[in-house]
Amino acid sequence: MSESHDPNCIFCKIVAGAIPSKKVYEDDDVFVFHDIEPWAPVHFLMVPKAHIPSMAHLEDKHAALMGKMMVLAPKLAAEQGCEPYPEGGFRVVCNTGAHGGQEVHHLHVHVIGGPRPWKKG
Ligand code: AMP
Ligand code: ZN
Repeated sequence: MSESHDPNCIFCKIVAGAIPSKKVYEDDDVFVFHDIEPWAPVHFLMVPKAHIPSMAHLEDKHAALMGKMMVLAPKLAAEQGCEPYPEGGFRVVCNTGAHGGQEVHHLHVHVIGGPRPWKKG
């Protein structure tokens, strides 16, 4: 399964509203919600609504989707309280595969920020 809904996937369930989440943003392609175990004062996850297991599964047709998430990240980071660049800013992380530390196999982009120290990272 790659390009739809995986009934066993926790992030597909969050996108569908079957598991509750603290929603930050939603459009036709992207769903954004707060990480349940935040590392930092700001920590949200951006996911495609389609079930794409990881960055390793990306194809040329996904370029606009990934671009949309990258352009959205700074806007949502600011809305969530990240202070402006360069004194503030945020970190963007997309763990991929076992060596990349990926635990949930639905592509997600972590956006992490706020004043330090952080719990991790
Ligand atoms: P990783 O796959 O290692 O990049 O990270 C998965 C992230 O998903 C972790 O930071 C978890 O805290 C987060 N997470 C797992 N389950 C939920 C959930 N139900 N709601 C929000 N975040 C979650
Ligand atoms: Zn999924």
